Amino acid sequence: MPVNSDDLVRKMARLMQRGAVMLEETCPLCGSPLFRLPNGDIVCPIHGKIKIVSSDEEASIIEAESVLRELIGYSAGKIKELMSNGSTPEDIGRWLLILEKAVEIGGNMRLSFSSSSQHEPSQRKSQGKEGS
Ligand SMILES: [Zn+2]
Repeated sequence: MPVNSDDLVRKMARLMQRGAVMLEETCPLCGSPLFRLPNGDIVCPIHGKIKIVSSDEEASIIEAESVLRELIGYSAGKIKELMSNGSTPEDIGRWLLILEKAVEIGGNMRLSFSSSSQHEPSQRKSQGKEGS
């Protein structure tokens, strides 16, 4: 969903009215410039308060998160493809394992930065097992 740029500008203006300073860093989620509030909080005009990358470790976590996201999408697509190909359960199972791992690891890491909404990151749907 593209961000309404008018809205973004308005939000940025409001931040500056509050004495926020625009930083060189950008939001890891949407790429908007980040602002530092007088109280020291780093905020994204779109996402609100943001935990800024402070160490290499965190940078690699963010990197890993995006890789995981891609992996989840990729393996899901692969499984779908294999299913329509009439592939063996072994082939599908291999990707299912990767998908499961990726989801599991993603659930352990904070896949979401949003501090305002505390929704569960893991949306584990119990999809009917098509065994036998
Ligand atoms: Zn953002």
